[in-house]
Amino acid sequence: MTIHREVSDPQRRRLMQAALAAAMAAAAPRPAQARAVRTSARIVIVGGGAAGISMAARLRALLDGARITLLDGARQHIYQPGLTLVAAGTWAPAQVIEEQSRWMPRGIEWLQDHAAEIDPVAKAVITAGGKRLPYDFLVVAPGLELAFDQIAGFDPERIGSDGLGCVYAGPEAALGTYRMIMALAEKGGDALMTLPHTPLKCAGAPLKLTFITDDLLRRHGGRGRARVHFLSPLSSVFGVPSVNSRVLELWKQRDIGVSYGARLKAVDPGRRVATFATNDGDVEQGYDFLHVVPPMRAPAVVRQSALAVRSGPLADGGWLDVDKDSLRHRRYPDIFGCGDINGTPRGKTAATVKKGGLVAAANLAAVIAGREPALKFDGYTSCPMVTAIGRAMLIEFDYEGRLTPTLPGVEPLTESWFAWFLEERMLKPAYFAMLKGWT
Ligand SMILES: Cc1cc2nc3c(=O)[nH]c(=O)nc-3n(C[C@H](O)[C@H](O)[C@H](O)COP(=O)(O)OP(=O)(O)OC[C@H]3O[C@@H](n4cnc5c(N)ncnc54)[C@H](O)[C@@H]3O)c2cc1C
Repeated sequence: MTIHREVSDPQRRRLMQAALAAAMAAAAPRPAQARAVRTSARIVIVGGGAAGISMAARLRALLDGARITLLDGARQHIYQPGLTLVAAGTWAPAQVIEEQSRWMPRGIEWLQDHAAEIDPVAKAVITAGGKRLPYDFLVVAPGLELAFDQIAGFDPERIGSDGLGCVYAGPEAALGTYRMIMALAEKGGDALMTLPHTPLKCAGAPLKLTFITDDLLRRHGGRGRARVHFLSPLSSVFGVPSVNSRVLELWKQRDIGVSYGARLKAVDPGRRVATFATNDGDVEQGYDFLHVVPPMRAPAVVRQSALAVRSGPLADGGWLDVDKDSLRHRRYPDIFGCGDINGTPRGKTAATVKKGGLVAAANLAAVIAGREPALKFDGYTSCPMVTAIGRAMLIEFDYEGRLTPTLPGVEPLTESWFAWFLEERMLKPAYFAMLKGWT
């Protein structure tokens, strides 16, 4: 695999020092926490991804005596933000794969099974293996589901062949995506980059992949033989207007075309033809590389339960019906949500888990202590928007789509090597510190 290295940036030394200072500050001893709430409550956590594990670690610190059971059948933990780097050819798949057991907090029970049913009236979770887990409080954190079945003719097994890529489908698929981009660099042709009509995790990833495809084509001498085109089912490519405008400006400079109102509905890999639903009916387009970003929805255990949003735009995906400020369920007050599952207006990133998890855990501890939830989540979301290998823009925003930069001297809409450095070197340790409940 090619490892790309980027060197020149005049601010590099100063920024590196700032990053190291920030890392040291994060590692410094923290002031003593408020006394833990004494309780014998039974807490079940559904899901052991970024949200479930970090919630378990936070609740362990906030509660004394709680009996916490985490339910997740997955043995591997995938560091998903790294998938983009695998598709860029800068990381190997092994760099994003961890043993789940390594990150499970001490003092909790990890049940290696999946939740098949949640009964919020009887207050019990029934597992796929047939076990019944009664709870006093429930944390719902099973992430989301990639709905490949909503794209006719598309088989995720074929990612990495027939010109098909998808960075979302796991480490091997991300590597296969890189190989398909490199095949395009060699032979030339049409790259079609897609976006779903549903809420999606890391809404920046489809844009990053577009920038990366353009950059890899240039680096390997194939840009002149290839056309890169992004198709959005909406009237924009990103939900935050200032970011949307900036991305479009950069794409114009890089000769990346954009179409709106086009939703990928079918793929014929044999003919290499994609069908898009548009206002003017179905339109077929040939491709040499197709980056498929499938519709996303809540896993069935939530989508088909009483916990799902019942009306409005989020009802279709069956997202968890939480209050966006407290992250408490709107009908079942002993249930909190964390992570991608939440039916909130924005924010399906690990950064959202980091800030939102603090709020959800503190509010749950308050409820256990007999108080009302006091903390409010502002919807913080963050995404280092990779604009080339070795360059990115650090985008941070809240529920309202307001930019909320947190690092002094780092302009959100300006490309920098530093933002790339954050994505490539700093985010992974920060992510695992979050799993430990340290940040
Ligand atoms: C390509 C890509 C790039 C990304 N880039 C970034 C980035 O740059 N920055 C950023 O902050 N975020 C990024 N993210 C998003 C981030 O990874 C997710 O938002 C985060 O992992 C969400 O955590 P989660 O725990 O909700 O879901 P996940 O981490 O997906 O974990 C869900 C867990 O629930 C388990 N589960 C599912 N169903 C059940 C069930 N029925 N019972 C029990 N367990 C169940 C699964 O096995 C899994 O372990 C990216 C994601 C992708 C895919």
